[in-house]
Amino acid sequence: MSIRRLPSHLIDRIAAGEVVERPAAALKELIENSLDAGAANVEVRLRGGGLDLVEVTDDGSGMSPHDMALAVERHATSKLPDERIEAVASFGFRGEALPSVASVSRFTLESRVHGSAGSAPAADGWRLEIDHGNRGGQGPAALPPGTRVRVEQLFEKVPARRKFLRSPRAEYGACLDVVRRLAMARPDVAFTLEHDGRRSLSVQPAALPGRVAELLDPALVVNGLPIDLIRGSLQLGGVISLPTFTRGAADQQFLFVNGRPVKDRLLVGSLRAAYHDLIARDRSPIVALFITLPGSEVDVNVHPAKTEVRFADPQGVRGLLVGGLRAALDAAGHRSAGRMHAAATARWTSAPLADASARPAPGLSSGGGVREDPSGWQPALPAISRHATDMLFEAAPAAAAEPATAPVPAFPLGVARGQVAATYIVAEAEDGLVIVDQHAAHERLVLERLKRSAGSGGVARQNLLLPVVVELDEPEADRLEEIAGELHRFGLELERFGPTAMLVRATPAPLGNVDASGLVRDLASELTQLGGSHRLQEKLDLLAATFACHHSVRAGRILSAPEMNALLREMEVTPHSGHCNHGRPTWVKLAHGDIERLFGRR
Ligand code: ADP
Ligand code: MG
Repeated sequence: MSIRRLPSHLIDRIAAGEVVERPAAALKELIENSLDAGAANVEVRLRGGGLDLVEVTDDGSGMSPHDMALAVERHATSKLPDERIEAVASFGFRGEALPSVASVSRFTLESRVHGSAGSAPAADGWRLEIDHGNRGGQGPAALPPGTRVRVEQLFEKVPARRKFLRSPRAEYGACLDVVRRLAMARPDVAFTLEHDGRRSLSVQPAALPGRVAELLDPALVVNGLPIDLIRGSLQLGGVISLPTFTRGAADQQFLFVNGRPVKDRLLVGSLRAAYHDLIARDRSPIVALFITLPGSEVDVNVHPAKTEVRFADPQGVRGLLVGGLRAALDAAGHRSAGRMHAAATARWTSAPLADASARPAPGLSSGGGVREDPSGWQPALPAISRHATDMLFEAAPAAAAEPATAPVPAFPLGVARGQVAATYIVAEAEDGLVIVDQHAAHERLVLERLKRSAGSGGVARQNLLLPVVVELDEPEADRLEEIAGELHRFGLELERFGPTAMLVRATPAPLGNVDASGLVRDLASELTQLGGSHRLQEKLDLLAATFACHHSVRAGRILSAPEMNALLREMEVTPHSGHCNHGRPTWVKLAHGDIERLFGRR
């Protein structure tokens, strides 16, 4: 076998495999070039999810015909005037995007210099074509100052790559994500996106919070927490959603390092840790977070597409994220997203009391007023209404917890007036009516109590009459054994019992008669998921939620009035009591005004 130097067109094609693995990656490179060229306006046109066409037009600096020819050569860049890669402020600097894209598509570059302050813009633009790496035609072109890049037939001659592409719809989704990320990174720039002739995004220059809400969810204005923190040379800003405002997928998490959109495992993991016991494992918060730090503290050149970064002090960054976000979530206290929302009111009022088919549910969904529906809104038949009230009262033996005439002290969650369906506590507060999900609330209180006692002296233990043997696999048993001493502080007494089993001698007393082997198994699988990257204390905090899930009090327990009021008072002083360990709200409040609106009094 003899060694040969690869010809440049082959080098380009190999590089293209890393830089442009799909249309969205090509799009990202093109938009970044426009932003680097100082564009104030970026217009994107796509066809067939970008497979047929990716076109980016900007009003940036433009290029002379001479520069255009250089731009499509490998390792030609205007962005590294000296050798200091760590000091680059531009998105690009590797000088390989244009030649890579041009090697796997029909590529057209048009540009016209934008004339700086003194000089007039170039009278004409210039056009340069490249067909799958081969120079094609060139000549004058008519266009306003700026640059337009058109990429057609992407990967058509690279069947191996083409095979890995997904449907046009999925590829379009990835393109939209790219535009969103960059539009968030640069709120001062206007962006438009058109797909198959339809305009799907258009944003004007704006301030950051507004741009984020416009691109993500307008409801983030109410359900988001602003973040603004500084620790040493690290700065963290942006917005994160309340634990009650989450999504089923982690598709709305936007992270930026020094203005560059990144998808970094360390950062995503930190997010997860900050929210861990506040939301269910299959829910994800919505976030847009901007980390700023000196260029010497971060290496952006670890991935050809520059979506991954390497921090000089990863633990410091992680600490700021986990600690900072956690502090913000703590400060949000028992705030719940279900509180006094138009949407929550609508949900509430639209739930039919009795037989749903008997009459349409009154709804506030359209505009807030009670809908007039003469045909359906007849008084319910006596038989039906009787049935409905019976149902309510059968399940509410503690209905008269407090005489309704007693004065209402100024407790935020009010005074318990009764229990409904042995599941919900109804309370009267000064400013409205409060409904508490007693199971969800209790679970949260147990968690916070466990954490408190584990921190000070340890949780009380309940010895098992007969120790329980739990079969696990060996690494799981190893992981549990490793932290057996710490688990002891949570009231769980474990011993190694052969290579693949643990022996449980005592369980945490506050959990009551808990299923010991279920608890240990859940802890083991939780530990496996957490992986090795967490510090011990952090691990324990995360594990506490698993304990709380196993407490034995469930919905359906009838509570006495003092028990209900005790629960309400404890919620008021317990951090995070506004939502359960799975992120569902633990209580909702209907303000007096909302009630009046329900009855058409306003
Ligand atoms: P890099 O961005 O890493 O420098 P590229 O291959 O993406 O490498 O681009 C090569 C060069 O072409 C850039 O350094 C820049 O000078 C020029 N260029 C590319 N796109 C544009 C554009 N939209 N406007 C002006 N100049 C551009
Ligand atoms: Mg570039």
